[in-house]
Amino acid sequence: MASNTANPANHLPYFFGNITREDAEEYLMQGGASDGLYLLRQSRNYLGGFALSLAHGRKVHHYTIERELSGSYAIAGGKSHASPAELVKYHSEEADGLICLLRKPFNRPPGIEPKTGPFEDLKENLIREYVKQTWNLQGHALEQAIISQKPQLEKLIATTAHEKMPWFHGRISREESEHRILVGSRNNGKFLIRERDRNGSYALCLLNDGKVLHYRIDRDKTGKLSIPDGKRFDTLWQLVEHYSYKPDGLLRVLTTPCPQLGSESDNFGFNAHPSPSGTLPKLQSTIGHPLEEAPFNPYVLQRKRGPTEEERGDQREALPMDTEVYESPYADPDEIKPKNVTLDRKLLTLEEGELGSGNFGTVKKGFYRMKKGAKPVAVKILKNESNDPAIKDELLREANVMQQLDNPYIVRMIGICEAEAWMLVMEMAELGPLNRFLQKNRHVTEKNITELVHQVSMGMKYLEENNFVHRDLAARNVLLVTQHYAKISDFGLSKALSADENYYKAQSHGKWPVKWYAPECMNFYKFSSKSDVWSFGVLMWEAFSYGQKPYKGMKGGEVAQMIERGERMERPEVCPTEVYSLMKLCWTYNVDDRPGFVAVELRLRNYYYDISH
Ligand code: AMP
Repeated sequence: MASNTANPANHLPYFFGNITREDAEEYLMQGGASDGLYLLRQSRNYLGGFALSLAHGRKVHHYTIERELSGSYAIAGGKSHASPAELVKYHSEEADGLICLLRKPFNRPPGIEPKTGPFEDLKENLIREYVKQTWNLQGHALEQAIISQKPQLEKLIATTAHEKMPWFHGRISREESEHRILVGSRNNGKFLIRERDRNGSYALCLLNDGKVLHYRIDRDKTGKLSIPDGKRFDTLWQLVEHYSYKPDGLLRVLTTPCPQLGSESDNFGFNAHPSPSGTLPKLQSTIGHPLEEAPFNPYVLQRKRGPTEEERGDQREALPMDTEVYESPYADPDEIKPKNVTLDRKLLTLEEGELGSGNFGTVKKGFYRMKKGAKPVAVKILKNESNDPAIKDELLREANVMQQLDNPYIVRMIGICEAEAWMLVMEMAELGPLNRFLQKNRHVTEKNITELVHQVSMGMKYLEENNFVHRDLAARNVLLVTQHYAKISDFGLSKALSADENYYKAQSHGKWPVKWYAPECMNFYKFSSKSDVWSFGVLMWEAFSYGQKPYKGMKGGEVAQMIERGERMERPEVCPTEVYSLMKLCWTYNVDDRPGFVAVELRLRNYYYDISH
């Protein structure tokens, strides 16, 4: 279900999904195979690619449509198109290399849905299992990781899913592979794949009339896998898929995966294909594995913090879950959350230099010693000389709000420390405020910005669910842990709403960030999650303007008048139209007509998934 949402061809009546080339030919023949009759199907060797099958002269011709790095689609060497549908439209007017024009679509017969590949069926479960195992997450932390990083996780899974397949035996020797295949049943077509070296070369070992054949699988410069002179594939599981339905140069087709030693009964069905019911293959366990020299993927090991860059052995960017601040420090059962949140000064060390400052005092970097080691922290330190009790009260109020929040996209409080000064100890977000980061990093892509603002919307959705209003949501109050991980901070103005109210009424106008405030805040002093949504619109504007100031050169009063006149800020230069229309929706004058964060987050999520494909 959810796995279908991202396929840009699912809505096309002439899209058949993951059917074979032969199936396509049969369909077109059934349909009369008139010149120009065509259908579209999923590519079985290129991730996210398609194939076009076109009848001409009583024969069917097949064209691979590759998904390009830019996200567009093209028949090799041909023009690029935004979607498979547009490519089809183009070729119905221009042959441009095809044997003839696409004249008539062959539509799916009634009741036939696009066929999902075995991987599609398994994907959701694989992703969940993968995240659970790799980062040792559960509950909300697990779900949020999946929502925010789905595109990255899909890619990871696609290229590592083979490790979870019964036919994948890891790094074993040629002799060992023969031994394993010859043990037990000796059906023709019994096979396994072993890893030959760390450079991504493998061997396919196949039983034929009592003898084991070894086919090399090499990886070319572009990362594609193939048996010498054979078809090329993005992933091992696609290769196995292909050779299990036709030999295509091998002596015979692949039939039964050779079981892993000691786990015969654990394998799922002894079938080359993952079970269509979507049950998950057992993950290979390194514990008690009979082959010491078979180092399985480090991802499979249970670890708290995920693989290091070195262990990952690739260039993939760090995901939020790889960082120290994804999960609550108190998710660790050994770590005792201090009652009334006061921290022991002896466990806190402060570094020289400041991360930032304000009229309250300074923010410094430090370390707080916890069970699992020293945790980098940011410490808000109140000026000592100021005897203004209001400043201390404000800090304690902020601490009181933060103490109640626990979400990966919100800066968590570790605690309060009263020593040489009052100190608020928080998780560290090393890269600092989003607006300043973007001012200095103009190369950050639209997709990257979308990823970050989507994370902010996830944090805000959490606040909304828990009846907190932030009241100071702005790009300066979004801090970055990495270029791909944002957290909401600064709860100095935040309020917890009681169960019977859905807005907070301020007694008087204060020192307010009026350019971020919705009309009802200015006119009636009313603050709600909906007014946070308005601020979120301004925050998105700031982000897509690379940290520029909103309503530049205008005074607060002028901004208010502009809003009352129904005018809004213009679309930033690099802002996608989809995002701008969402911004304008956030700036809906009437609170009741304005969407909440549930809707805003979903819109951003879908848009983010779309552009990540
Ligand atoms: P604030 O008054 O809370 O906005 O903090 C002032 C400045 O201190 C921010 O703009 C950041 O540059 C820095 N800062 C505050 N909190 C953190 C944190 N948790 N991690 C890293 N830097 C922070």
